[in-house]
Amino acid sequence: MNKQIVQHITTKYQEQFNAKPILSFAPGRINIIGEHTDYNDGFALPAAIDKGIFAALSITENNLCTVTSLDLEESFQFQLTNLNSIKNGGWKNYVIGVVAEIQKTGKKLSNFNLMISGDIPQGSGLSSSAALENSIVNGLNELLDLKLSKEKMILISQKAEHNYVGVQCGIMDQYASMFGVKGTALLLDCRDLNSTPISIQLHDHSLLLVNSNIQHSLAESAYNNRRKVCEKISKILGIKSLRDANEEQVIKLIDSMNSEDVLKALYVVQENQRVKKAVELLKENNLPELGQLLYQTHKGLKDQYQVSCEELDFLVDFTKNQDSVLGARMMGGGFGGCTLNLIRKDSINQFKNNISKAYLQAFQKECSFYLVHASDGVKIITNNT
Ligand code: ADP
Ligand code: MG
Repeated sequence: MNKQIVQHITTKYQEQFNAKPILSFAPGRINIIGEHTDYNDGFALPAAIDKGIFAALSITENNLCTVTSLDLEESFQFQLTNLNSIKNGGWKNYVIGVVAEIQKTGKKLSNFNLMISGDIPQGSGLSSSAALENSIVNGLNELLDLKLSKEKMILISQKAEHNYVGVQCGIMDQYASMFGVKGTALLLDCRDLNSTPISIQLHDHSLLLVNSNIQHSLAESAYNNRRKVCEKISKILGIKSLRDANEEQVIKLIDSMNSEDVLKALYVVQENQRVKKAVELLKENNLPELGQLLYQTHKGLKDQYQVSCEELDFLVDFTKNQDSVLGARMMGGGFGGCTLNLIRKDSINQFKNNISKAYLQAFQKECSFYLVHASDGVKIITNNT
């Protein structure tokens, strides 16, 4: 845990609000495989990481709530009795959304002050958004003794994003951030929200993220459109969601439908199969084949689902000539953000040098790196954590 942030946010909170806050932490997440499957009731293999967002909170006697993002150096206020999303409100709508969705469950809130700060890059596919939502709902749950279960809290976070931010996200991000278990990835069934922890034993390999530093904007991107395409095809097939489709069923549609849409649906069906295969490979410790699966997923996201971009393709293609990398793929919603790389530990520095030079030359842009470890989900920070 980032002790510096804990210290900094506690000090700043005292300065602004003259009170001692409780601290809630929610991590971001990686996803080993299973991209764009969650809103299709499918499977994914995410893990919480050791980076995330801290929310500091205390009750106030004021008749409104004040919220500050230390990272964005912005503050705003709202009244609990008058909660609406703000036009072009950006991060504020995540906060308003969580508070409003808690109220919709019938829970009574009292006025509070909130400060947030984190060490997770925003808009990079590590789900700073779910970390933000979960840190707030978990913090309010503790502060006001709301007695919300973790299952309820992730649905509140997801609905905040749907109804107040406008991103029709699946549940994977909120789930992984809430339920993460150290040293494991969660084989998540997004239909019934059950998960099985799968131990990640990479031995002489690590998971390294390379950030393209191209920030995606999911709300404005084609994310909601992809979801619509999937729903349309499910309807045509007469099934609840693409989770229930098989390859033959989808391929048959090719004569009667827009072939780009059919390819997208086919991607989802194949990606669900890859998740199950990846779990077997992890159990057998077959990292080379797992790496190949990551490349297959990238190809599917690029050519079939069409959510990659030039920079991400470059970062993935570059690894194919690096002996130390077993596999790589873009991770998250797409159109920017990070690639996930399965890389031999002893070559990380060399690899970083090689890929940064090449990326700089190709795009006149720096890439950045994060070594990530599967970690526990949300927590309340006490003096002895
Ligand atoms: P991702 O979840 O992949 O990081 P999103 O676009 O879904 O990308 O979410 C990023 C948004 O979450 C930011 O644009 C911002 O509105 C909000 N956010 C994330 N971290 C913070 C933070 N520390 N302070 C304020 N807002 C944040
Ligand atoms: Mg997000």
